[in-house]
Amino acid sequence: MHRLFNKLKNIFALIIIIIIFASYFGVYIPLKNELEDSLHQGFKNMVSNAEITLENHLNRALEGAESLSSRTMIRRELEKYQAGEINYQELQEYTQPKYEDGAAIHKHLLAAYRFVDDRILANYGGDYLELLANNGFLESEADNLLVTADQRYIIVKSSILTDAGNRLGSDYIIYDLNAILSELRQLNPEEIDYNILRGEPVLNSGIKADKIIEIRELNNTDYFLQAETSASLIYDTIGRISYKIILVVLLTVLAIAFLVTKVLHNTSKNIVKNLRKELKEKTILSETDKMLGIYNRAKFNQELEREIDRVKRYKSKLSLIMIDIDYFKEFNDNYGHHVGDQILKKIVSIVEEKIRKHDILARYGGDEFMIICPETSLKDAEKLAQRLNEAIDYYNCSEDNNLSCSFGVAEFNKDQDDIKSLIKRADQALYKAKDTGRNRVCEN
Ligand code: GH3
Ligand code: MG
Repeated sequence: MHRLFNKLKNIFALIIIIIIFASYFGVYIPLKNELEDSLHQGFKNMVSNAEITLENHLNRALEGAESLSSRTMIRRELEKYQAGEINYQELQEYTQPKYEDGAAIHKHLLAAYRFVDDRILANYGGDYLELLANNGFLESEADNLLVTADQRYIIVKSSILTDAGNRLGSDYIIYDLNAILSELRQLNPEEIDYNILRGEPVLNSGIKADKIIEIRELNNTDYFLQAETSASLIYDTIGRISYKIILVVLLTVLAIAFLVTKVLHNTSKNIVKNLRKELKEKTILSETDKMLGIYNRAKFNQELEREIDRVKRYKSKLSLIMIDIDYFKEFNDNYGHHVGDQILKKIVSIVEEKIRKHDILARYGGDEFMIICPETSLKDAEKLAQRLNEAIDYYNCSEDNNLSCSFGVAEFNKDQDDIKSLIKRADQALYKAKDTGRNRVCEN
């Protein structure tokens, strides 16, 4: 039983290990990879949003500059000045308010300057002349878009051209890149660092040791957007989910372990209980006379041995009464075996009724019975035998069966008896009773 239980425990431990391995390689690893991909994809999507928004801003900056430069009314006035029809002051007075109105409608526009003949004809917003000079913008002829290295400004230069394409002057417009970038940051729930850089990207898109990087070229410019975030964006989430998965797997394993142990425990308990019950039943069967339900000869020997041991140890008394039915063979012949069986049962019930709780009644064989009487002297055992004889006689009269028993009584003598000699002496006493006329008690 124990070995079976241990074997089951080993099989169960193996199953648990298989469950853990299967959960790790079959559930955890694929889930982790999928999660990593989807979180990375989520980051790429956020950068795509930012890229589109930024491209829109840059396009709007370019378009805004172009639309400011091409406003027809003020351009016509400028052409009049070029043709000498109005003087510079008249041109300035006409241009300044209209220029301010035109610039004010642009979002994120910090300042705008219109240069004509290397002088500021009109301007709008704060003082950013130094910024323009520092970035070498004023000297450049071509239209241009510049993002300052400190990521604070976008500067756009746009030429004012006549219908024939002749250059009348230039507009310089300064946009607030800081505000645009913080708008991008607000678009994303995660902490992402955006940088607008020119030239060849130094880094590549991908997951580095502790960073996730995404590089996007910005359309229509020679700039690219570099987005960077901490790899913890992915790994913290994976860590949190892994922790939950591990917890679920462990709890499942624990629950299975608990259930299996409980089932094994209950099953083994039931098996042991049934085996014990079976053993007890078999023991009772092996000790009991089937028909009469009292101890058989084997059990009688065991019990007598035990009582003799006790007598020897405690120096008390022990007597044995042997009973044999008189002419029982004849009785059987006259009334049949079935009636004989009923008589055997009746005699058992009469004896059981008369003896004490500690006296032990057993069937010794055929029509022979033994009564072990612990703590009983020869005299008292004899008295008990007399009472039994009378009781059987009394029953006999009421049934008119002509049935009696003979009794042989012997007391255990510590100095000379053992189990065999005690039985022999009781048997001799019984023989005496038979020999002297039956239906009586004799002692030895
Ligand atoms: P006595 O003892 O007085 O000398 O004569 P007896 O006829 O009783 O002789 P003995 O004790 O030797 O015979 C025992 C008889 O008991 C023999 C058998 O017919 C009867 N007997 C033994 N076991 C059973 C039993 O289980 N049922 C019945 N009905 N009779 C039994
Ligand atoms: Mg007999």
